[in-house]
Amino acid sequence: MSDVETTLRGPEAYKIAGRALSLMERHQVWPTALNFELWTHFVADPDGALARELTRLISLGEPLTESLSEELAATYLPKAKLNEQIRDAGDLLSKELESVSKAIQDAQKSNTAYGRTLNGAAKELDASQDVDKIKTVVSGLAEATRRVQKENKSLETRLAESTAEVDRLREHLEQVRRDATTDGLTNLANRKAFDEELDRACSEADEAGATLCLAVLDIDHFKGFNDTWGHQTGDQVIRYVASVIGRVAAPPRFAARYGGEEFAMIFPRESAALVAGTLEEIRVEVSSRMLKRRSTNEDLGAITISSGFAERRPGESGHSVMERADAALYTSKRGGRNRVTAAETKPDSANAA
Ligand code: GH3
Ligand code: MG
Ligand code: MG
Repeated sequence: MSDVETTLRGPEAYKIAGRALSLMERHQVWPTALNFELWTHFVADPDGALARELTRLISLGEPLTESLSEELAATYLPKAKLNEQIRDAGDLLSKELESVSKAIQDAQKSNTAYGRTLNGAAKELDASQDVDKIKTVVSGLAEATRRVQKENKSLETRLAESTAEVDRLREHLEQVRRDATTDGLTNLANRKAFDEELDRACSEADEAGATLCLAVLDIDHFKGFNDTWGHQTGDQVIRYVASVIGRVAAPPRFAARYGGEEFAMIFPRESAALVAGTLEEIRVEVSSRMLKRRSTNEDLGAITISSGFAERRPGESGHSVMERADAALYTSKRGGRNRVTAAETKPDSANAA
């Protein structure tokens, strides 16, 4: 996540949103979702490239039209930029494939022509007793063979170049995909990747008739921590908690930063007892660590996290398991925080499927 994105989920977020709206009104910009995104970025990062460009356009008296907004979003907003990149890579890929298929067609044509030359020559040779005539036919054949060899050679080169280009594009797309599914602050998976993985894991569990547990973890009283120590130090704490969670999340387990100071984990084929043990491990490790502020070495004390988890019922939707894990988290919070709670296990047909 970019710094701006983090700021927009921080304590200043509503103030920023309010200022963005009033600026939009002042500059007679419609309050569309896209414009709102542009203008919150403008306010959150007043020295950034987007803000500088908008300021420049305003000072020139440029009308802030819909298409200008789209252009700005494509250039400056991370998500739109990402889509743009995917589109560009896709365009390049199809151009590449088009040119390769053209090269193959050309080669096929000249191979067919070559076949015809051979057939014609064979007939002429059959019919002919004349040595000079035979010499002419054979040298014509040699010439045709050289031509086809040359063309095949250049097709080979073209295909090798194209393979390299396609590899490069594939790598680029993979990088873009990684960026799109990774949380920038913690390097854990982001919420989008988690939702996808949860769907996948649920189908897999159904196919295998296997169990699956889902946990949500949330830092306790984090608003207070931010208020006391500042947002940046808060971010360091989020990264620290992510690192503890990441260490116990080797595949097939899956961990993500689900929201601001909230994490989620998937435990395929694990019993509730095992999951409870792992969450307890995380809880103890986090709560027993005395944190220090990096810049000043000040003692920050320890923080705690609460968690809740649910074991999926056969056929239950990911969304419904998530709701039950969330309810269990809420029970942990109400019960005094710094604890792990299992969701109700008694069958509840209202929640199933
Ligand atoms: P509870 O124990 O009930 O979870 O209390 P809480 O204060 O943690 O919960 P609440 O949901 O009221 O506040 C969450 C706070 O987390 C709000 C915001 O200050 C902070 N926060 C959310 N996202 C980020 C982030 O990306 N970075 C930082 N530093 N703080 C964040
Ligand atoms: Mg919290
Ligand atoms: Mg929370």
